[in-house]
Amino acid sequence: MANIASTAWEVARAACPKHMAHGPCAGVSDSGACEVPSFGPCPYTGAWPFPIAFEEGTRRESAKPFVLTDLPGAPLDAASLRASARILAGSADAFLLGDHGAERVQFPPSYRARLLADEGVAAWPGINCRDRNRVALEGELAACADAGAAGVHCVTGDHPALGHRPDAMPVFDLDSTDLTALARRAGLRVSVAHNPASPPAGLRLPRLLTKVAAGADVVVVDHCGGAEPVGRAVDALRGAGFAGTVLVCVPVATDAVSARVLAGFAAGRLPPGYLARLFEAADQRVAGIDAAISLARGLLAHPGVDGVNLSAGTRAGHELATARDLATIGRELRP
Ligand code: SF4
Repeated sequence: MANIASTAWEVARAACPKHMAHGPCAGVSDSGACEVPSFGPCPYTGAWPFPIAFEEGTRRESAKPFVLTDLPGAPLDAASLRASARILAGSADAFLLGDHGAERVQFPPSYRARLLADEGVAAWPGINCRDRNRVALEGELAACADAGAAGVHCVTGDHPALGHRPDAMPVFDLDSTDLTALARRAGLRVSVAHNPASPPAGLRLPRLLTKVAAGADVVVVDHCGGAEPVGRAVDALRGAGFAGTVLVCVPVATDAVSARVLAGFAAGRLPPGYLARLFEAADQRVAGIDAAISLARGLLAHPGVDGVNLSAGTRAGHELATARDLATIGRELRP
C-alpha cells in the first residue's frame, strides 16, 4: 500500500466527519462542499495522494459479459427478497444487495445472502462502514463468506445525516479501503466503486487505486455521463495497469416514478437525454428496457469492459415488477 501520509492529509482526516483515511469520499459537491449539510468545504480537496503502487496482474478476457444486477426487495421482508430472487434467477451472474438513504434499517448483509442462497442465486452484498465498527464488520464478512456470497461490494457509506436516520451515531471506524483489505483477508471477492464524475473529477483514479492496492479485484464504474466518459474512465483504469474485472453501471428506469428515483441519486451523471426519452415514450416500460439494453451493449463493446451492473430506480411497492424488468434485460445481455 502506498504511503499517503502528509501533514495536509492528516489534518483533512482529523476534520472529516467520516474519518476517511485514504482520500475523499464520493460525496464532495460540485462546489467542493462536504456531503454533510452545513459542514463546509471538504478538507481533502487540496490534499491528494501520491502515485499508488499495486501489483499488476495479467488480464484474462471472458467470453461472455458478467452481469451484476441490483436485487429489489422491500426492507425487512424475507418473502419479498425470496420472491425477487426467484424472478431474477438465471438472468445474472450475481445480485447486488444495496443500501438506500430512505431504507437504512435492513436485514444484515449476510442474512440476505443466506436468503438468496436458499433460492439458488448468488448474492453480492454491499457492506458499509457507517453502521458497524471493525469488529462487527469482521464478523459480518465472515458470515457473508459462510452464507455463500459470490463477493462483497465495499463502500464507506453515506453519513447518517443524509438518510432518514440522522439519530444514528456515525461509526466510520474504517473506510472503504480498509474494509476492502479486511474482506480480502476473509477470502471474499471484492468490488469497489469508481466515481469518475465526483469532484474533483479527473483526480478520482488515484483514490480508486488505493482500493485496488488493498485488494479489490472488481471495479464498478458509476454513472458518469454516458458511453464516452465511461470509456475514458475505463481506458485510464486499464492504462494504470488494473487487470481485474471492470463492470460499468447501466441505469434502469421503466416508468416515470422509477426515473425520478434514479434521477434522485444520479442526476447529471446519466447519458444525455436518457430519462427525457423515457418520459416522452408512449410505452415507458418498453422504452426503458430497450434503452438499458442498447446502452449496455454499447458499453460492453468498449475494450476493457467485462460486464455491467444493472442499476435500477425502484419505487416502494413495485419491487417485483422492477425485478421482472431487470430479469428481461439481463437475459438479453447473457448469451
Ligand atoms: S465530503 Fe466526504 S471526505 Fe470530504 S469531508 Fe465530507 S465526508 Fe469527509
